[in-house]
Amino acid sequence: MASSVQNATDAEILAAARAILDARYPIALTGAGISVESGIPPFRGPGGLWTKYGEPPMNGYQIFLADPKKAWEDRIRRQNDELWGPLKVAKPNPGHIALAELEAMGILRFLITQNVDDLHRQAGHSALAEIHGNWKLIRCIECGARFRGEEIRLDVLPPPCPKCDGLLKSDTVSFGEPIPADVLEECADHSARADLVIVAGTSATVYPAAGFAIEVKQRGGKLIEANLYESEITRICDISLRGPTGEVLPRLTAAISDLRKARLS
Ligand SMILES: [Zn+2]
Repeated sequence: MASSVQNATDAEILAAARAILDARYPIALTGAGISVESGIPPFRGPGGLWTKYGEPPMNGYQIFLADPKKAWEDRIRRQNDELWGPLKVAKPNPGHIALAELEAMGILRFLITQNVDDLHRQAGHSALAEIHGNWKLIRCIECGARFRGEEIRLDVLPPPCPKCDGLLKSDTVSFGEPIPADVLEECADHSARADLVIVAGTSATVYPAAGFAIEVKQRGGKLIEANLYESEITRICDISLRGPTGEVLPRLTAAISDLRKARLS
């Protein structure tokens, strides 16, 4: 299947750049594909962690609630396993940096990511929602406050929330756990304003993230994908840019920058 894949042409990149510059409120949706290029193994698909080790229990959140102390002990013990190792050493790749540049240029208004790896933040992105949480953060399931890991002392497990004494858990959303309401509201708010979505490194089939992109399309907005392979999202995309996001997104950002300069002069 990979043999027939041809990377995006300059004409396709230019068409996407024009559409993004003409949009009133472009946002982006990213997924595992952009993380893989930073060395983070995906969960699903060939070579995925869940494919190798089995899916985590579908009631992970209920297991946490039933015995938070044990869940915290497990979390601390697992800190050097196959998933956590790559997370600790991963660095943003040119795809993350290109999206952060697009934000800094005042073009990209918001980013919704399904990734928990913190790499968009490390690339300098500021207006973003991490729909499945952030592995570096700890969240109070009662007041919703988030803390950096180093802010929380682990001498008592489960550690209490410094703000409200409530129950703390990893910010990453477990199976069976509702996506935090503040994150969902932010995503709904920005996607309601959006007239274009850059879908990068995701087939956009996992809800609720996929729903935000599909809703923009249904309202007459445009979808531009930057994905290595054709997937379910491709048939509803206005422009498909094939290739690694770490290659396609920098070309796109450069084209937008050039086009804007040309329009201004
Ligand atoms: Zn709290």
